[in-house]
Parts: sequence; structure tokens; C-alpha cells
Amino acid sequence: MRRYIVIIVTVVAVTFAVMWLGCARPRSASGQKCTSNFAQIGKLFYRYEADHGGNFPSSWQASYDYLASSGQDANPRLFVCRRTGQQPGPTNQVDNWCSFVIVPNLTTNSPMTRVIACCRPEHHDGKGANVLFVDGSVCWYATDEFYKLLKEQGITLPKKK
Ligand SMILES: [Zn+2]
Repeated sequence: MRRYIVIIVTVVAVTFAVMWLGCARPRSASGQKCTSNFAQIGKLFYRYEADHGGNFPSSWQASYDYLASSGQDANPRLFVCRRTGQQPGPTNQVDNWCSFVIVPNLTTNSPMTRVIACCRPEHHDGKGANVLFVDGSVCWYATDEFYKLLKEQGITLPKKK
């Protein structure tokens, strides 16, 4: 009986370890706040490119305008990391207040592993940030890994306005 308990505990532990290491979900509560934003933004980018010859939007303003023009509920909160407690600003100046960083000039021909948008570690107590890739997947990176990834891809974070 005791042996079965040990086996069950081991299986559960391994399952959790695998889930923990997988990047589909943030590894801490501090990362969860903008995961759903990026999942929705990823879908928005794919609707956008379908209407723009395979080109992803190159600014948050273009993303917002597309969302607003498509007759969907264009909630500007989509472009704010809730960890910041910040309120959205004017909808004609989205790039001035959006919490996130967008990498311009990407297309459906870009490598799937290219970063297309990300949050900033300073919005998550310096612990890390969510990253959206061209393939639409969202991944939480601890701060060190986050900056390593950006460096590998030649991306520099614009200064916070
Ligand atoms: Zn965030």
C-alpha cells in the first residue's frame, strides 16, 4: 500500500514539474496579469495580417484602429498590463500609453520563434515578462532569460515614455 502511495506521489510530482517547466503558463502570479492580453493580441494580429497581405501591425495604434474598425468590442484595456494599475489613455494615442512593446515589420514569413510583442519586467516586480511570438504563443520569461532572448533577436526595449 505504501509503495502505491509513493508511486502516485511521484507521478503527480513529475506531472506538476512538467507543467511548471512548460512555458505555456506563467510561473508566478506576477506573470499572470497580462497573459490573457497577449493571447487576445495574438489572435488580433492574425486577423489583422489576413486583411493586410500577411503583414502584422507595426504599431499599437494600428492594432487598436483595426480592432475598432472590425466592429468588435474595442476595449482599450487590452493594451494595458493590469499589473501597472494604469488606465488606458486616449484611443488616438495608443502608442503613447500602451504598456507593451511591439516589434514592427514582421510578416507571416517571419520565423515563428520571432518575438512580436512583449511586456516589461518592471511591470512585474522585476521578475520577468510575457512574450508573444509570431506563431501566436505566449510565454513567461524570467528577467534574465527575457533580456537574453531579446538580445539574441537584436531587440532593444524602447525607453518607457
Ligand atoms: Zn505585463
